[in-house]
Amino acid sequence: MKIIHRDEAFICQNCHTSVPKRGGGYSRDHCPYCLYGLHVDERLPGDRKSECHGLMKPTDIIYHTMKKTQQIVYTCSKCQHRFPVMVAKDDDKELIFKLMQDSAIAKMLDV
Ligand SMILES: [Zn+2]
Ligand SMILES: [Zn+2]
Repeated sequence: MKIIHRDEAFICQNCHTSVPKRGGGYSRDHCPYCLYGLHVDERLPGDRKSECHGLMKPTDIIYHTMKKTQQIVYTCSKCQHRFPVMVAKDDDKELIFKLMQDSAIAKMLDV
């Protein structure tokens, strides 16, 4: 799977903070302050083919065993499309931690 890296500055649609470019060849695909993203990719990360543009809410955290990295799972508030993106180094750690806690609790209650 080919990943297109898009590193763009944007204004977060959820917390309205202006988010700078990430730099270092990484993609800036979600807001590091509130973790929300926008549904702009259709099938591949960075393809920008989606016309939905709904707010993507972080709903879960998974561990990608092959990439050895954590991924935030997003659910689009408009079309319910789900997709994971990699956690960025400057993401708000408390929010990530809270997401992990919520996710663990949800999984426990599920069994
Ligand atoms: Zn934000
Ligand atoms: Zn959507």
